[in-house]
Amino acid sequence: MALDSGGDTALLLGHEDVPPVHEVNTEGRSPFLLTSDHYGRLIPRRLGDLGLPASELTRHIAWDPGIAGVADALAKHLDAHLVAQRYSRLVIDCNRPPKALSSIPLISEATVIPGNEGLAREAAELRRRSIFDPYHQRIHDVIDQRLQNGVPTVLVSLHSFTPVYAGIARPWHIGTLYHRDTRLPPLLLKLLRNEPDLVVGDNEPYAVSDETDFTIPMHGEARGLMNSGIEIRQDLIADEAGQREWADRLARILGEIETTLRSQGLI
Ligand SMILES: [Zn+2]
Repeated sequence: MALDSGGDTALLLGHEDVPPVHEVNTEGRSPFLLTSDHYGRLIPRRLGDLGLPASELTRHIAWDPGIAGVADALAKHLDAHLVAQRYSRLVIDCNRPPKALSSIPLISEATVIPGNEGLAREAAELRRRSIFDPYHQRIHDVIDQRLQNGVPTVLVSLHSFTPVYAGIARPWHIGTLYHRDTRLPPLLLKLLRNEPDLVVGDNEPYAVSDETDFTIPMHGEARGLMNSGIEIRQDLIADEAGQREWADRLARILGEIETTLRSQGLI
């Protein structure tokens, strides 16, 4: 296991590492701006395997399985701009305030992360500067540009959740996650609940808060944008067929929402 504890504050990402930000449809015309904080599970080469076996690095503690396929397909369907992050949430969680303990987790579910133990402050800052900051700066800049150009912008943050957490099975197929926006979440909930085959979580399995989230408070609420998180259960999007099916369904529902928002003069 090769770990760099960060005494050298050069770059965390070397030539062999890809940039953290992945984008689809940078010129997309949809009002929906899609984000995906837990899109990928890459680890910068300098951090080795964080002291974990592959079986841990491929499961939900490392990323949101299935959401990458849904996010890419949904962006294409809607002609929406997607900004996503390719590195594992075990390196740094892009949906946690950097000062939260869970930003660079010492333990996730019941797994201890050896590569995150005793991390020097400089090493934590290096992860932030190399991965967290470029991702959030990009979202910030995209929103700036859209607002400057008068482009309607509705933030949708895409996630997936594990069907069983700490031994408890979760009944929902999909959940909406929100906090302060009172416009988009009720519309989304209503249309999801019209789907006869779905069990829909209302702020389940998680709710958004300033302490446990970053993307919605920072880019949705602080910018005054309509916003919601969407969480899809991972067993439903484990393969390409499931990912396509859910992207189709969400494209249809978000399309209806766009029509409603336009008719109400909200976008
Ligand atoms: Zn997530």
